[in-house]
Amino acid sequence: MGLQHGIIGVMMHRIRALILDMDGVLWRENTPIGDLSAIFERIRAQGWKFAFATNNGSRTPEQYLEKLAGLGVRAERWQVATSALCVAEMLKKRFPNGGPVFAIGEEGVKQALREQGFDLLSLEDAEQAIAVVMGIDRSISFEKMREATLLVRRGVPFFATNPDKTFPTPRGEIPGAGAWISVVTTATGVEPIYAGKPYPFLIEMALERLGAPKHETLVVGDRLETDIAAGQQAGCPTALVLSGVAKREQAEAWSPPPTWIVDDLESLVTALAQRGQIVGERA
Ligand SMILES: [Mg+2]
Repeated sequence: MGLQHGIIGVMMHRIRALILDMDGVLWRENTPIGDLSAIFERIRAQGWKFAFATNNGSRTPEQYLEKLAGLGVRAERWQVATSALCVAEMLKKRFPNGGPVFAIGEEGVKQALREQGFDLLSLEDAEQAIAVVMGIDRSISFEKMREATLLVRRGVPFFATNPDKTFPTPRGEIPGAGAWISVVTTATGVEPIYAGKPYPFLIEMALERLGAPKHETLVVGDRLETDIAAGQQAGCPTALVLSGVAKREQAEAWSPPPTWIVDDLESLVTALAQRGQIVGERA
């Protein structure tokens, strides 16, 4: 069934574009997974367009481009879609004229909001906010949480980058954006509007930038509950790589299953290039 599913996916829809998660797909911490420079040369040689989509909203696109370049991957700014850029775009749709917002987050979120015409309020002026935006903030404080809670309890719209409960580090999992957001949610009874995976908005943003139809764009990631779920919600074929968080048994139990399950990005590129010879397919 699984193998058949994969082959049907290949035959019905030629893949023309890739939307790639980064952590666990391209690298673990600062260690590249495979020869990225060679892998992306093959991707270019196949004529596939590609973009990156990450739930991590703490960094700016420039910071990602720098990291990619350091590992031999050339890319342009439009190819980097983060949950921070996505949440700022969503906010812009809701408030086309911009305005003052209270944001808890790092440079990625702050820069994205400024670029969309929003002014960032200080703790002292937080009361004037037309919206609260929350992402991971390694300088989080009681005062920031207090202001966000007061605003959300007052009915001010509440947006957030991503619901990831934890963030992987070499020492283990530490609190992610979702863990901090849950404090505000507990104190207010209000869930934010999320931009990141598993919601489809980040994938839709990348699709728009690629100018590629969803059924010809493969969403690649290492987490079932975020990457694969988001790709499926957006209506794209999906590929789970086993080079990050998810294990094969979990992938095989996931319903509906990812279109492909492969060892890593290199195996995926090989399988796609050969069209039909599905490396590491569930079978
Ligand atoms: Mg990942």
